[in-house]
Amino acid sequence: MPYVAKESRYASMPYRRCGKSGLKLPAVSLGMWHNFGSLCSLESSREMLLGAFDLGITHFDLANNYGPPPGSAEETLGRVLKSDLRPYRDELIISTKAGYGMWPGPYGDFGSRKYLLASLDQSLTRMGLDYVDIFYHHRRDPQTPMEESLGALVSAVQQGKALYVGISNYGPEDTRAAAAILREMGMPLLVNQPRYNMFDRSMDDGLASAVADVGAGTAVFSPLAQGLLTGRYLHGIPADSRAGSGVVFLTPAHLTPDVMDKTRRLHAIAEGRGQTLAQMALSWVLRLPEVATVLIGASRMEQIEENVRSVADAKPLTTEELTAIEAVLK
Ligand code: NDP
Repeated sequence: MPYVAKESRYASMPYRRCGKSGLKLPAVSLGMWHNFGSLCSLESSREMLLGAFDLGITHFDLANNYGPPPGSAEETLGRVLKSDLRPYRDELIISTKAGYGMWPGPYGDFGSRKYLLASLDQSLTRMGLDYVDIFYHHRRDPQTPMEESLGALVSAVQQGKALYVGISNYGPEDTRAAAAILREMGMPLLVNQPRYNMFDRSMDDGLASAVADVGAGTAVFSPLAQGLLTGRYLHGIPADSRAGSGVVFLTPAHLTPDVMDKTRRLHAIAEGRGQTLAQMALSWVLRLPEVATVLIGASRMEQIEENVRSVADAKPLTTEELTAIEAVLK
């Protein structure tokens, strides 16, 4: 059956302005770091991508190295664009990044102009696109002048291969410096992409204000702490979960007694306000006006539906609830 997007797709998703730009992002976006590579079923990836779009998720976040194997998440998106989403390209915000190791030798990693522009060409080929909406430098490269890495992003825009530029994993000072360099080049910084969730508060240490001061927005990654801030591990480690499937980024060692104790207490607070823990974790990140969007991951459609309900039936956290959460996290 040819895919036809649901007419109701814009009925309940809030769209939040990204910094001072003209671009609005859905409060919940879908990241393709895990569960969209060629080792996963194309049918499951397709179901999640189309299901997400039907719920108003207009933004898909990628990087050159997402898979596994690296590159294959972009290929998956390319397949689904070709089979289903191509007619909706102008309704979609597709981002990709370069900055981590992608191919052998000195030109396949970090932040040289050589690497970033070659990588973007490869990403566009894998996705079958003429341009991405946002091209990110994935991490700061201490050995390459920031002017060179950022100049490559600007060139990508000038060449028509990207519409906006972003940085990821840049700290507060680097964010201010990057925005100043880009401003001199005549290019506003659209967005910074840091990790932020109830278990990782590093964005509170000056990053949120730095991003706001330079007029950029924030796209938060791992808002659910890779699944720790959900009901996923409340009754053990499921074999098909991220921590149960041998992924190096989240292992059973991360589920310490302290983490599990906090998770259970947060779960109780969420229940008390009629939400799941995942929904409360997203509400908590989205309480910050500096956050334009949360980039969630998912392994099945039900998770995306549950997560989107947290913004469709928005329930701002009360002062009492925020205090109770702080008491658990301290
Ligand atoms: P999350 O913190 O949202 O974790 C996603 C995982 O949580 C899912 O794979 C799933 O785990 C579990 N989950 C999600 N929703 C639910 C739910 N409702 N109930 C139970 N479990 C749930 O984000 P990710 O760590 O996956 O990162 C999201 C995106 O952020 C990435 O895809 C990527 O786009 C971006 N990112 C960027 C980085 C950067 O350096 N710029 C680094 C990391 C991520 P399970 O698979 O076990 O079912």
